[in-house]
Amino acid sequence: MSKAPHELQKKISQVEKMMEDISHLKENSNQNSSINITSLSNKGNYDFENIIFQSLYRIPILKNFFLFYPFNDNCKLSNLIKNFFKEMMNSSKINPEKFYMKFNEIDDLEEFCDDRAHDSYDFLEKLFEKIIEENDFSGKIFDNINLDNSFRDEGLGEIGLVKKGENEDYRGYKFTLKLYKFGFSIIEYLFMIIFQKKGKCNNCNNDITKFYNNNFLNLEIENPDRNNKIDIDELIVYNFNRKNKIEDKCNECNKESRTYASQKIFKLPHYLIINIKRAYINSNDIYIKYNGIINFDEILDLSKFCKNEEKNKKYKLISVINHLGNELYRGHYICHVEKNGSWNKINDDNVKSNVDFDDIKEGALILFYEKMNN
Ligand SMILES: [Zn+2]
Repeated sequence: MSKAPHELQKKISQVEKMMEDISHLKENSNQNSSINITSLSNKGNYDFENIIFQSLYRIPILKNFFLFYPFNDNCKLSNLIKNFFKEMMNSSKINPEKFYMKFNEIDDLEEFCDDRAHDSYDFLEKLFEKIIEENDFSGKIFDNINLDNSFRDEGLGEIGLVKKGENEDYRGYKFTLKLYKFGFSIIEYLFMIIFQKKGKCNNCNNDITKFYNNNFLNLEIENPDRNNKIDIDELIVYNFNRKNKIEDKCNECNKESRTYASQKIFKLPHYLIINIKRAYINSNDIYIKYNGIINFDEILDLSKFCKNEEKNKKYKLISVINHLGNELYRGHYICHVEKNGSWNKINDDNVKSNVDFDDIKEGALILFYEKMNN
């Protein structure tokens, strides 16, 4: 192989540098000002939308991207978020119908405008897909970067599998660059996490290593029937050690191999979104909600889950989305956001400040973490 991992790493740094220059993404000074939190009343069934926008608004780069990037008229969702954020910044009351009713004008998001209860993670996922579709920067970024020609001949999925005799890191960095080339937006820049899975071929026992990516860290609950608290670290250990299937063609025996693999993080994101999957199927084949406490701190250290010696592996919690109620498809969404060192509970248009940290854990569903500098 012609290129060493550190050369590819240098190219990735170049891409990240360009990404920072793409817009006026720098944090503006009023982030921690005394302006009150503006939240929307729940007219109909739109609590799930309000809390997602409240959380995204707390990510300075994303907030400024929507506020200042000149989207063209085809970017309907991006322009809608821009106007929403503008109002959040400037007014104390927002008419919810002005925003929520507009979703029926956006392809693929119409379903969220039917006045029925929806899953907040479902909504966030679809929202991200649409933002990615509207703001793909791959072309712009790669005008200035020459890539190895071998990139062109391989499919996106193929490049995730380490070839025989090849350096794992080399393949991991190549996979990262390939993702940047063929699909890259502000969402991937901020949230993309790259995993490395390792297992043994079930035919020939050869090592199989594969890379894959996601904009979320999804965590399933091991034993939902138990009643005691589950620590978030414990949940990550369970999900990283046992739950990862590799189904791919083995490089050694050339057969389709199915194996369980352990998982590590190859590349950490700037912002980490943890989605706790509280829905599970009970012994009667019915979907129910796990309503126990998942225990987490304001600081999350991912050192033991990472492959490489990245400088900082610590994250700071910035917002939490909670689902209250015992039933999956009913109940109520609220969220908690950190501001000036204290926690605020946002329940529709009601904002309560100085909430006790332990109180933000009830029904916690989606956690937003920001990477710390040190
Ligand atoms: Zn094999």
